[in-house]
Amino acid sequence: ARPDLLLECRVMPYGQQFLMLVRDITQQRKLDKMRKHFISNVSHEFRTPLTVLRGYLEMFDENLPDQKVWARAHTMMSEQTIRMENLVNQLLVLAKIEAAPVVDIHDEIDVPTVLNSLSAETEQLAKDKALTFSFNIDPDLWMHGSSDQMRSAFANLISNAVKYCEQPGHIEVSWQKGPTGNARFSVKDSGPGIRPEHLLRLTERFYRVDKDRSRETGGAGLGLSIVKHALQHHRSELSIESEYGEGSCFSFLIPSDLVYSPNEDDTQDIPELQI
Ligand code: ADP
Repeated sequence: ARPDLLLECRVMPYGQQFLMLVRDITQQRKLDKMRKHFISNVSHEFRTPLTVLRGYLEMFDENLPDQKVWARAHTMMSEQTIRMENLVNQLLVLAKIEAAPVVDIHDEIDVPTVLNSLSAETEQLAKDKALTFSFNIDPDLWMHGSSDQMRSAFANLISNAVKYCEQPGHIEVSWQKGPTGNARFSVKDSGPGIRPEHLLRLTERFYRVDKDRSRETGGAGLGLSIVKHALQHHRSELSIESEYGEGSCFSFLIPSDLVYSPNEDDTQDIPELQI
């Protein structure tokens, strides 16, 4: 009944008889495949910017460039260096998040302030692209959690909306109490939208709908994977709704026991998070 089942059989002498050892190696093979795939993806992502840098260095070996060529080379080399830096940073964040079986959730996260500072960070890019923002943030809604991980989750979703939205576009960021004492975060954009066949794969490492488009914006396809793991550590899950050509909405719910108001007496025990 399991067509994917892989068994390893070993036969060895056992006294006058033979012993057959059968081991289920399905999971191990899957992990090996994932690891190989991961390494080939990482190598590929580094190779492209390195090829650009090497190309320019070889060109400069032969003769010193004139002002115009140098200006272009400088821009390209800076862009590729930033791209490699982003990739290394994202790989480190992902490795850290994936490796942590238990997360310290004792940080008191002032979510409204985090969201305000993230909106300030993306302000320039949003202005350049003529995007408008609307914020619907409950100023009295904080949460317990890992500050770094939740900041990564909010930052990736907001920056994706800005990155992929075409001008003129609109982005709505919301952080509000839910019906059962939980909290709901959402980012809705009027961007290109995503076809249904891609939706389930978006949180896979290195998965991008349009590799060229994503590379142009400096993306390696790791952001949503980071979001997925960060949310898992807070017993939450990313939900993606999208209509191709209309826009997308990325949202998640934070369980009620992690949500609180800083103005109320908050003496409840903070649960330890396990995954
Ligand atoms: P990247 O670094 O490429 O942005 P992510 O993991 O954050 O990687 O996103 C994976 C892919 O999902 C992106 O390459 C893009 O194709 C798609 N995507 C993410 N957010 C949006 C969005 N708001 N609108 C349209 N497509 C999106």
